[in-house]
Amino acid sequence: MSEQKTKYDIIIIGAGPAGYTAGIYSSRARHNTLLISGILPGGQLMNTTDVENYPGFDEGIMGPDLMIIMRKQAEKMGTKIIDDEVVSVDFKSKPLKVSTASSTFEANSVIVCTGANPRKIGLDGEQAFAGKGVSYCATCDGAFFKNQELIVVGGGDSAMEEATFLTKFASTVHIVHRRDEFRASKIMQERALSNEKIKVHFNCTVEDIQGDQKFQKVILKNVKNGEKITLEAGGLFVAIGHEPNSKILEGQVELDENGYVVLKNNTETGVPGVFCAGDVHDHRYRQAVTAAGFGCMAAIDADKYLAEQK
Ligand code: NAP
Repeated sequence: MSEQKTKYDIIIIGAGPAGYTAGIYSSRARHNTLLISGILPGGQLMNTTDVENYPGFDEGIMGPDLMIIMRKQAEKMGTKIIDDEVVSVDFKSKPLKVSTASSTFEANSVIVCTGANPRKIGLDGEQAFAGKGVSYCATCDGAFFKNQELIVVGGGDSAMEEATFLTKFASTVHIVHRRDEFRASKIMQERALSNEKIKVHFNCTVEDIQGDQKFQKVILKNVKNGEKITLEAGGLFVAIGHEPNSKILEGQVELDENGYVVLKNNTETGVPGVFCAGDVHDHRYRQAVTAAGFGCMAAIDADKYLAEQK
């Protein structure tokens, strides 16, 4: 068995649009680059069907296909990719250390691109119809539901924003929230509530998500009186927050109160040589194209850092 190389110029953690783009730029800058993909390479786009808003694909492209192309492009440029999970990092050591269950790798620079996952309601139907009417991104999928009734679950700013955005396409948007008041900022609430296409169902939890080949309806329960309500719709948008994949970064780089990486200057984390790109720091845009853009920026920042170390 050939011995595995363990020292690299740059290690990238994560294989979404940010990670693969960082790989492309890092390898083209002639840095010896290792990308450790995580257990589900490709990130959130692996759970998406048609992607119509990634520039360069005028006919749209399936999310997994886009990620396969990005991976091939990174490999073609020279990025070595290992499909394994990073279980710990040591950014206090020099060189920096990144460990999987079986190996420890060293690098002079690390780019963290571990992404985020939308919080799930946790029902079987949610998983069964994900990408078949159940979505976690109105910007990505709203245009597929022209003139249909849609449901948004959640009571925060994301839910208000998604619901308001979806009124561009939908005939009616139902916001389902588990309490009798929204968590969202007043201005976002006002914007949503003043929209005549939006109907609100307070005090309702989603008990079941049903369909046949694709999503058809939700069963709601009114938590005040126990009444069950069936709501049929073309699509269900779950907007109950996101969870950044930053567990391995605890105590290593600064995280905010929600677990997102705090950037100091461009893509710098504040730890020399450690950069960050994509949804693990970006809770505002959360788009494949912005993640890819951040991946590019982080690789350029890492390149400059390495040049300055020489
Ligand atoms: P959030 O503020 O955490 O709100 C999540 C919402 O989902 C809450 O209303 C919560 O209900 C509900 N929820 C959570 N778990 C649930 C579950 N299992 N079942 C049903 N409902 C559940 O998340 P967010 O709206 O994504 O916002 C995240 C951050 O980004 C916030 O700081 C927000 O201000 C910011 N943001 C800003 C903008 C903007 O300014 N344009 C847009 C989007 C997001 P409860 O209220 O009952 O807990």
